[in-house]
Amino acid sequence: MKLENKPRMTWETINRMEDMTWFTHALIFDDLLIVSQKETSCFVWKTEQGLVVIDGIWPDKAVYDAIIEAIKDVGWNPDKISKFVMTHGHVDHTGCGKWLVDNHKAVTYLSKTDDEFWRENPTKPDRPDTWKSFDIDHFIADGDIIDCGDKMIYVYETPGHTPGCLSYIFPVLDNGEQHMAALFGGATPPWNNEDGIQQFLQSVDYFSKAVNAKNVDVMLSNHTVFDNGIEKINYAGKRLAYMPNIYILGLEGCKKFMEVYKNIVE
Ligand SMILES: [Zn+2]
Repeated sequence: MKLENKPRMTWETINRMEDMTWFTHALIFDDLLIVSQKETSCFVWKTEQGLVVIDGIWPDKAVYDAIIEAIKDVGWNPDKISKFVMTHGHVDHTGCGKWLVDNHKAVTYLSKTDDEFWRENPTKPDRPDTWKSFDIDHFIADGDIIDCGDKMIYVYETPGHTPGCLSYIFPVLDNGEQHMAALFGGATPPWNNEDGIQQFLQSVDYFSKAVNAKNVDVMLSNHTVFDNGIEKINYAGKRLAYMPNIYILGLEGCKKFMEVYKNIVE
C-alpha cells in the first residue's frame, strides 16, 4: 500500500478557506470542541476560567455564529467564553475575534511580533473586512504559560509560517483520562522565502522536541487538509463507546505526524 506523505494542497484548497457557507463540529475530548469550515478549524477548550477559543477561522459573522451554535450544541454556555488565543496573525486564524471581544469581552493572546505583522501585512490588502480589527491584551512568548485555573497552555515560539507564529501544548480529557495535545500553529512554510523556510524547519524540530518532552499523545491541526480533518470530525461526532479516540496517536504517532511539516517543504 502506497500512502502519500504530505497533504495535497491546490488552489481549490486556498479558495475553500473563504467559504463560510458550511461548518461542522464535534466534541473530540471531554473538554475540547472542534469547529471547522471546509479547510480551517478552531477549538474551544473548557477550563475552570471559562471557555478558551483557540484560533478563530475567518473574520465573518457566520464563523462566530457557528462557534456559538457548536458551543450550545454540546451543552456548554457561550456566556462562559473568556479567552481568545491565536496561533498567528493570519486572517484565517485571527478570524472572528472581533465578535468574541465585542460580545464576550474575551481576553486576547498573540505574540507581539505577529500583532505588528498582522497590522502591517494584511493577508488581503484590498479587503478592509479582513484587516486587524481588535487589540491584543497579552503578548505571549516562548516559555510562557497561559494560566486557565485548573489547567494551562504551554506556549512555544515557532516562527517561519509567520515571523511570530506560536504553537501550543495543553492537556485534554478523554472520558476523564488525561492526555497531552499539541497544535503546531503555522502548518506551511513561507514558500518563496528561503530564510523563512529554514526558520520554519528549525521550528518543526524545536516543537518536535517539545512534543517529546511533554509526552504529547494527541495531535491537533488547524487545517483539515493535514489530517483528513473533516472525516475525523465526522467520526468523532458519531463515535461509540467502544471505539478509540481518533485524535490520540500516542507519542510515537505524534512524532511521526510532525514529520509531515518537513515533507511539505520538499
Ligand atoms: Zn497562516
